[in-house]
Amino acid sequence: MYRNFSIVPNIIFGRGAFSQLGAVIAPRRITKGSYFVFVVDDVFEGKPLESRLPIEGNDLLLRVNVDDEPKTGYIDLLVERIRNYSEIIPDGIVGIGGGSTMDIAKALALMLDNPGSSADYQGWDLIQNPSVYHVAVPTLAGTGAEISRTTILTGPVKKLGINSDHTLFHQILLDPELIADVPKDQWFYTGMDCYIHDVESLQGTFINEFSRAYGEKSIDLCRQVFLEDHPDKDDKLMMASYFGGMSIAYSQVGACHALSYGLSYVLGTHHGLGCCIAFDCLEEFYPEGVREFRQMMEKHGINLPKNLTIDMDDKALDLMVTTALALVPLWENCLGPDWEKLMSRERTLELFKKM
Ligand code: NAD
Ligand code: ZN
Repeated sequence: MYRNFSIVPNIIFGRGAFSQLGAVIAPRRITKGSYFVFVVDDVFEGKPLESRLPIEGNDLLLRVNVDDEPKTGYIDLLVERIRNYSEIIPDGIVGIGGGSTMDIAKALALMLDNPGSSADYQGWDLIQNPSVYHVAVPTLAGTGAEISRTTILTGPVKKLGINSDHTLFHQILLDPELIADVPKDQWFYTGMDCYIHDVESLQGTFINEFSRAYGEKSIDLCRQVFLEDHPDKDDKLMMASYFGGMSIAYSQVGACHALSYGLSYVLGTHHGLGCCIAFDCLEEFYPEGVREFRQMMEKHGINLPKNLTIDMDDKALDLMVTTALALVPLWENCLGPDWEKLMSRERTLELFKKM
């Protein structure tokens, strides 16, 4: 059976497009007495971007902190804050930030009209009621969160997304000017998330012409951004992120992402950095990709943290291995249907010990 999947229906791309945000959401201000919630990464507190927000009437500015990547407890708390702010469900949510903030915006849009805790919906297609209208404005490029049908959350028992068609943004606004001031390391780690999506998609067993078309364009753009010098590199990276996300939407990621989930669940390592650390140890899986990745690191003077797992006890390492191996589709994409014969707990542990 082929999957029938939805994609984001409305997209604006271009330098300065952020100034159109007010006009874009205006037709969605439909309910009398309602409001929009602007979910903004608190890194922008007091910065010029905040003063450009098209805030009107009862709109709520909700600054969010992403020092830790989104947890279900944090989502539930923010839902509570919005419900305390008004009895009316907002007409819309606008998420402005990197992958973490976009995922928070998606989760809030889902949870405002669905009962219970966000942890109840970690999984596939568990959401019953449609989401509130929600918009993404990325300020970091690479995760593909702007176009994916998931919001990745760490819950009490697992790190797993709320995957559903309702999770998809209704509108995305891609303005390359917004990613110009990202600190270099973060720019690199999040950009490499995209590069790794492409490698894992293109070299996976699930590959098909749909995913290849997007993946090849995305990896080509990543090479231009990270190995060459172009004045419009921010435009290129933004489109690479979008195309990389489209590529994995119809294929899957692989070994690197499975291992990075282990790092993130047990050590709290952030997604982009965790992917870089894991990928650097995966020469035997992706020899050419890892070689090129190291060229990119060298060109940009990136030094990855080392010995993350050196002081960990057996129990914590064991949990990491279990977390990584639970991601069955990722291993299946990487190694084929017989992946379990190839990927023992011992081999997984050895990889973690290198990190
Ligand atoms: P992030 O959103 O976690 O942000 C990383 C850091 O960069 C934060 O400190 C943030 O404040 C800062 N930042 C963001 N924009 C900035 C800007 N313009 N200038 C200066 N600082 C800025 O980073 P990310 O790599 O974009 O996202 C990672 C998150 O995305 C993880 O939570 C991961 O699970 C999630 N993710 C989601 C998907 C999906 O499909 N939903 C896919 C991949 C990753
Ligand atoms: Zn990723």
